[in-house]
Amino acid sequence: MTAPTHPRTSDELIRAEEPVLAHNYHPLPVVVARAEGAWVEDVEGRRYLDMLAGYSALNFGHRHPALVEAAHRQLDRLTLTSRAFHNDRLAGFAERLAALTGQDMVLPMNTGAEAVESGIKLARKWAYDVKGVPADRATIVVAADNFHGRTTTIVSFSTDETARSGFGPFTPGFRIVPYNDLAALEAAVDETTAAVLIEPIQGEAGVLIPDDGYLAGVRELTRRAGCLFVADEIQSGLGRTGRTLAVEHEGVVPDVVLLGKALGGGIVPVSAVVGRREVLGVLHPGEHGSTFGGNPLAAAVGTAVVELLETGAFQRRAAELGEVLRDGLAALVGRGVVGFRSRGLWAGVDVDPALGTGRAVSERLMREGILAKDTHGSTIRLAPPLTITADELTSALASLEKVLVAGA
Ligand SMILES: *Cc1c(COP(=O)(O)O)cnc(C)c1O
Repeated sequence: MTAPTHPRTSDELIRAEEPVLAHNYHPLPVVVARAEGAWVEDVEGRRYLDMLAGYSALNFGHRHPALVEAAHRQLDRLTLTSRAFHNDRLAGFAERLAALTGQDMVLPMNTGAEAVESGIKLARKWAYDVKGVPADRATIVVAADNFHGRTTTIVSFSTDETARSGFGPFTPGFRIVPYNDLAALEAAVDETTAAVLIEPIQGEAGVLIPDDGYLAGVRELTRRAGCLFVADEIQSGLGRTGRTLAVEHEGVVPDVVLLGKALGGGIVPVSAVVGRREVLGVLHPGEHGSTFGGNPLAAAVGTAVVELLETGAFQRRAAELGEVLRDGLAALVGRGVVGFRSRGLWAGVDVDPALGTGRAVSERLMREGILAKDTHGSTIRLAPPLTITADELTSALASLEKVLVAGA
């Protein structure tokens, strides 16, 4: 069968996917054809406010002019060398990213899951080379309800049965403790522990924000126990919460920070492991790598992303608009919203299950011109581009109110 060449409608395109595209997603029935800033447009020209922002990969909005320009300039010059050779963009990217995050060294990768995998390998190597853990005995302590990606090793320590079951045998060496529970963490850490790996805010779990003092407690406990604190800031980092990193809300500096999503500006996949020299310094040539990691196009876009964050303007904006978001959601509690958690421009909103699943509410929001995504059960995740205006945010909240209260 040959593929049709005439322009196809949204419905036709959705139907065309079914036989040829793996069914590992259940997207909302919208087919996006173009986008700018906080707005996307579908095949038929309908416009939607993007309240998901690619799970925070689009913190700077769609096609931010400075990022598109950096990509264009680099496309015209050099795109890939592999790490067999040096390229003229990588040093600058690493210097500026390290400075932005208060760390010493950068290991460039591509996707978030790769950054997590790299962080795990790095923590194990550090445990053997520096801490002196006996060979193949290193453990990593993680939190229940985590989301760190989709590789076989990462799903090995997931507690989400849908993400995990059917994909064994699993990688050993992980201990799972409840999130936001320092006593449980303390009990799980021993002389084999290479690292504690956690999300400073659990995004996929529903934007779960730990109690004040938890992150500082993890920092203190890992320091005392002589193991690494690895913070997965792939979703929480790079401006989303009103700070460059979410750990900054507690004044904490982890040993290793994992970055991804927004680091690629919504243009190319860019991830990185950033950390102290004592940790990243354990890697030697041949022990780890990536064909595309640190490619000049990624480095150029990543550098432009870091430049946007260096001014602090996006972080301030996320903090200020975060108050608009919080106040708007607070006004809906008891009126369709049973509870919510937010920090900066990031919220998990638990809607009254009687009004429908998170999926059903997301579909109703879609018909109102708002794109958002449910997470588990009746929770909706809101994470608009940090470039959204106060008026746009207010109108999105009005649509949510309409959907929940008027049952639109
Ligand atoms: C998205 C995400 C990942 C995985 O990133 P991918 O680019 O999808 O592989 C890992 N950790 C967290 C916290 C994430 O939100």
